[in-house]
Amino acid sequence: MTTATVLIVEDHEANRRLLGVLLGRLGYRVLDAADGQSGLALANEHLPDLVLMDIQLPKLDGFAATTALKGQGRTRHIPVVIMTAFALKAEEERWMSSSAEAFLAKPVRLQDLTATIKRLLPEKGTAP
Ligand code: MN
Repeated sequence: MTTATVLIVEDHEANRRLLGVLLGRLGYRVLDAADGQSGLALANEHLPDLVLMDIQLPKLDGFAATTALKGQGRTRHIPVVIMTAFALKAEEERWMSSSAEAFLAKPVRLQDLTATIKRLLPEKGTAP
């Protein structure tokens, strides 16, 4: 079974590290980026199995980065999970129109993170 790779795009360093540690413990290979542009570049380079995308990001926000990922054949199939503290109606509508697969409210809870990833990567194994 191959280990699935998760790309974290999050500008807040403490959040990025925490998510990285949690995903590492769950057995995933982790890549991370601190802004939308680097996130897009990493996604194109490594074609991760899943992307965790913050919304408020420098250079390119999470909606624009998700729209870009979903707009090209190479990366369109990669599930994107939008993470935001702004669980407002307008944000929700933008999230849905961005064609991301799922939404996680921040602060992200471990059980929600685990459930969402398992739902989106059902056939992908984690490391033992
Ligand atoms: Mn942010």
